[in-house]
Amino acid sequence: REEYCSRIQEAIQAIGFQGEFLDYSRYGSGHINDTFLIRFKESDGHIEKYILQRMNHEIFKKPEELMKNICNVTSFLRDKIEKNSGDVKRETMNVVYTKDGSPYFRDSIGSYWRAYLFIGDAVSFDRVENVKDFYESAVSFGHFQNLLADYDAGSLYETIPDFHNTPVRFETFKTAVAADLLGRAAEVQTEIHFLLERAEEMKVCMDLLKAGELPLRVTHNDTKLNNILIDNSTGKGICVIDLDTVMPGLSIFDYGDSIRFGANTAAEDETDLSKVSLDLNLFEIYTKGFLEGCNGSLTEKEVEMLPMGAKLMTLECGMRFLTDYLQGDTYFRIHREGHNLDRCRTQLKLVEDMEQKWNEMSRITGKYR
Ligand code: ATP
Ligand code: MG
Ligand code: MG
Repeated sequence: REEYCSRIQEAIQAIGFQGEFLDYSRYGSGHINDTFLIRFKESDGHIEKYILQRMNHEIFKKPEELMKNICNVTSFLRDKIEKNSGDVKRETMNVVYTKDGSPYFRDSIGSYWRAYLFIGDAVSFDRVENVKDFYESAVSFGHFQNLLADYDAGSLYETIPDFHNTPVRFETFKTAVAADLLGRAAEVQTEIHFLLERAEEMKVCMDLLKAGELPLRVTHNDTKLNNILIDNSTGKGICVIDLDTVMPGLSIFDYGDSIRFGANTAAEDETDLSKVSLDLNLFEIYTKGFLEGCNGSLTEKEVEMLPMGAKLMTLECGMRFLTDYLQGDTYFRIHREGHNLDRCRTQLKLVEDMEQKWNEMSRITGKYR
């Protein structure tokens, strides 16, 4: 703990904050980085807040590239917001550079730190308590797509290579089945077959990308409710945060992943599968918000493929849980025996439900195009 304090002090010294350092405290409920709120007193007595994060170097192996992505995307956003006469300090993240001009600081034991301007009078919600917030998150992530529609996505680093490359994930899955390290394959034949039967679909979106029928976009890749800030006074989504996984990808995957976890009627690890289904009302609310936020920037093909985005993200996620189960639970942290298998089953159940509701899903996405 003392060691940690002295490294926070090191980071504070190195980063170019204004004023006199007052204090720091743990902040928020993120699971990946260590997040702190730090306060400074400026010469006029005004108190300025910042977010300081120790980056997760285990998960993100190339912090330099990650920070280049964040700096390039946020400076592009800043220009756009300025042109729209928006508030550049609240509608995008703003990196605070070190005194020698770097977007991150490496401390004496090799940890990476970065700082952002603090966006006040706003909150992030960990769970959907109010459907309106879910809608607001959809608008915000759609608006993010819209603002970045003319950004050259191919120039961004792939922070996690093949993150949503479903065919590559499918190959990894088949290798895990063949290796069957823990002898678990026999008991999960139903799940294995469910995935194998959908081999053709796994390729659909990546093939469309290769054929130039779906455009490469700047994607967020962690489109959870708590990765947007909601303004306390207006109740509107004001800023997309947590840009660690910003990289080139498919817009329909950002959308699809939100549907996967936001429009499921049950928890991701529910064991009573009869509770798992796609909530069409939440599906419609998110779709409406997302397409409003996109404001016409998606192509016809992207809109047409939205239901497939939702289905593929769910299928891929279920496949990753099963792969991890077969490999001995080394990637996703488990809290009980068979936890990853339970998670896999909810995802596959959700896929099944989507297949049954397919026409309805297409009708809804078509309605807001
Ligand atoms: P996750 O588990 O979602 O990956 P994380 O560990 O990557 O989270 P962040 O989402 O970046 O961490 O930040 C954690 C929390 O800190 C956010 O949910 C938000 O409440 C708060 N936060 C982050 N950046 C800012 C900011 N610039 N202004 C205000 N609050 C912020
Ligand atoms: Mg977060
Ligand atoms: Mg994060």
